[in-house]
Amino acid sequence: MIKRSTLRCRCCELPQLIADANVSICAACNEHRGVDPISTRRRLETHLAMVTERLVAARAAADKAYDERDLYKKKMHAAYGSRESAVRRLRSLSRLHEPRGSGVCICRTRGCASLAVLDVPWVRDMIRKLEDIEAQREAEERAADGRDEWSVMAWDATYDAEERSARRRADPA
Ligand SMILES: [Zn+2]
Ligand SMILES: [Zn+2]
Ligand SMILES: [Zn+2]
Repeated sequence: MIKRSTLRCRCCELPQLIADANVSICAACNEHRGVDPISTRRRLETHLAMVTERLVAARAAADKAYDERDLYKKKMHAAYGSRESAVRRLRSLSRLHEPRGSGVCICRTRGCASLAVLDVPWVRDMIRKLEDIEAQREAEERAADGRDEWSVMAWDATYDAEERSARRRADPA
């Protein structure tokens, strides 16, 4: 196996995979050696093409990461959204069922099945978390009241929208 290492080519000055450690220029640059006008012109053209190709690749990678971040965010929001609505349903249920003592629920059922579900620690935990989240949201709304443009979330959303339309303008495909 030939050992290839990434070295900065002495001609194009780009990091290139160079097979031979004794060679300081890449394979592409080896084709345009020479100081005659034709070689010089080919050298400039090739270097421009190389840099352009790398820029396009870097931009594509950045765009891909950006889109994946959006997709991930959407999935995450959907997952949390459905969990939240499930917990909300459990909470409204928890208001109808509470132990009233001697094994009787406030729904007047002895050994109430709903009460058994609601009494699971995980469920109690989730309901408590939901109440915390709602209290926090309320506090945030009160704090942001009247100065919405300073809200970090609003700023972030505006930035995202601007970024997207700028990208659409630059890349109308
Ligand atoms: Zn090179
Ligand atoms: Zn070169
Ligand atoms: Zn009950």
